[in-house]
Amino acid sequence: MREVRVVLLPGDGIGPEVVGEARRLVDHVSNLDDMRVMWESHAVGGCAIDTYDKPLPDGVMEACAASHAVLLGAVGGPKWDTTDPDKPRPEQALLALRAGLGLFANLRPVKPFPSLYEASPLRTERIEGTDLLVVRELTGGIYFGKSGREGDMAYDTCTYTREEIRRVAEVAFESAITRRGKVTSVDKANVLESSRLWRDEVNRVAAEHPDVELEHMLVDNAAMQLVSRPSDFDVIVTENLFGDILSDEAAMISGSIGLLPSASLGGHGPGLYEPVHGSAPDITGQGIANPIATCLSAAMMLRYSLDAPRGAQAIENAVNTILGMGHATRDLGGTVSTHEMGDLLMSAAS
Ligand code: NAD
Repeated sequence: MREVRVVLLPGDGIGPEVVGEARRLVDHVSNLDDMRVMWESHAVGGCAIDTYDKPLPDGVMEACAASHAVLLGAVGGPKWDTTDPDKPRPEQALLALRAGLGLFANLRPVKPFPSLYEASPLRTERIEGTDLLVVRELTGGIYFGKSGREGDMAYDTCTYTREEIRRVAEVAFESAITRRGKVTSVDKANVLESSRLWRDEVNRVAAEHPDVELEHMLVDNAAMQLVSRPSDFDVIVTENLFGDILSDEAAMISGSIGLLPSASLGGHGPGLYEPVHGSAPDITGQGIANPIATCLSAAMMLRYSLDAPRGAQAIENAVNTILGMGHATRDLGGTVSTHEMGDLLMSAAS
């Protein structure tokens, strides 16, 4: 039996509650891939500020870098909100981890569950069959370009190199091979020079993947198509700013934020897996948080970082089964507690 090392970063608010259920579930399915997970837990975010006076305590980055994967709950909460630029903030831990681990591709699958179609703001006939993956470039573009102010003028610059575009495009094409074989590259090539370079480099990567169909789409059109015909998309790849906006738009298709997983991957080293939602201070400590987004993030971890596809599939099937049977946490209109949902998923993942 092989052993893998996973760093657990429960974080703040409902983070520890949902991560606890994901850990139980992973332990439950790991024998399917003849694997044992060695867990190592660390404080990050607000709880780390309380204890260590900094959001990312010494040694945590090194522990993550030496692991096979990192599973994070969420960080932040009103207790640590501050406008003082000299005070530590919980989200600094996340930004430092993404940069330190070189996580340049953020993956967010969106696949609404048939039993929850009614929870979507879109009509059922529009979302039926939707199964898409947004691959967002995470460490380049306008968020990291030169910015400043000169008198009454302010500027932010968007820069991309061919290499930055190539590596995230490769993640998208490799993902498409394991899915329906289609990539939609989103840009604004009719206006932006960085988008024209983006399109050119994506075409080059496409030439190396003849089995994958590529379409280019302007971002304004993509924003419309995502809500008018989401089921036509397979893999969407786009730069940082467009991806930030489109991935939140796509997330709304499935109705509840408590269901959405994500993965951030780099070229080498561990991936970081976390639910899309935050620390939900309004429901912290009540035992009612939905652990499914974190459990599905753990399933992505099993598939992408731990070479454990059977366990990943078992978790995804269990979520489908349990939701299909009508079991639901409060965010989905039910009364099932966080821990009860963990128990249900474990029973269905056997
Ligand atoms: P949030 O995602 O924490 O909560 C938004 C709403 O969704 C709340 O009503 C909450 O109760 C509900 N919700 C979220 N997750 C849920 C779950 N698993 N089950 C049931 N309901 C759930 O967003 P917010 O309120 O804007 O942010 C709260 C804190 O989280 C802030 O401090 C913010 O900075 C932080 N945050 C952290 C991350 C992260 O760690 N990656 C991401 C987003 C927000």
